[in-house]
Amino acid sequence: MTITADTITKQALVRIDGVHKYYGQHHVLRGIDMTVRQGEVSVLIGPSGSGKSTLLRCINRLETINAGRIHVRDELIGYRESRGRLHDLTAKQIAAQRREIGMVFQRFNLFAHRTVLQNIMEAPTQVKRQPRAHARSRALELLDRVGLAKHANHYPAQLSGGQQQRVAIARALAMEPELMLFDEPTSALDPELVGEVLAVMKELAESGMTMIVVTHEIGFAREVGDTLTFMDGGVVVESGDPRTIIANPQQARTREFLSKVL
Ligand code: ADP
Ligand code: MG
Repeated sequence: MTITADTITKQALVRIDGVHKYYGQHHVLRGIDMTVRQGEVSVLIGPSGSGKSTLLRCINRLETINAGRIHVRDELIGYRESRGRLHDLTAKQIAAQRREIGMVFQRFNLFAHRTVLQNIMEAPTQVKRQPRAHARSRALELLDRVGLAKHANHYPAQLSGGQQQRVAIARALAMEPELMLFDEPTSALDPELVGEVLAVMKELAESGMTMIVVTHEIGFAREVGDTLTFMDGGVVVESGDPRTIIANPQQARTREFLSKVL
């Protein structure tokens, strides 16, 4: 094999190997394998209840896993391994890992009683102990990047849903994560507000951010995605180049799902 610049720069940032997850007796993730390379946009689709949110929450260690391994930049997420067994990390260690991973939810979860600027400065000043002046200028830069510089002193309730979601993205970016997880970031928005959020996500992708995006926006998957993974019933049914899969799905279940969302 010839080692090119591409093979060196595009290392796996996220490696998911044989992950299983149960809620009680309910076997929700049934052996998930997935790799996301540095700088890649990995789009995850699948019917409601197929385990997409659970998988994101496991990557972020908001959920524990029952078997398998999740690595982000060669670091085992949530556990330490000893003699082939997993042992929980401490809450402090888990919090440190989680800081490297930004997450944007369907609901924006902004602090209602704080301004847009205060929302973005909160974690950098409280968690990372950044000096306020530094956090403030960085927050203003991020607001500019998501097109909301003029709204720094507004409260979330004064913004549209699309604007609030863009603030939520800026807030996640303020922690300088190496990986961003998006869980149906546009599903709760009125249709006319979807585009502005997708445009911010596209710009972020073009800047080189590694992203895993759960979405039903097939146009986004086709245009911005580097890989498309279709999940159903807790397994990966099909994964590959988005354009190829959308134009020519190989599995009947993928075909059926795409025919409903396209
Ligand atoms: P998706 O995001 O693809 O719609 P989820 O990951 O939310 O799917 O859910 C997968 C399955 O796990 C569903 O059957 C759901 O009801 C179940 N589930 C999700 N979260 C929990 C939970 N906290 N406790 C019990 N069951 C859950
Ligand atoms: Mg979900």
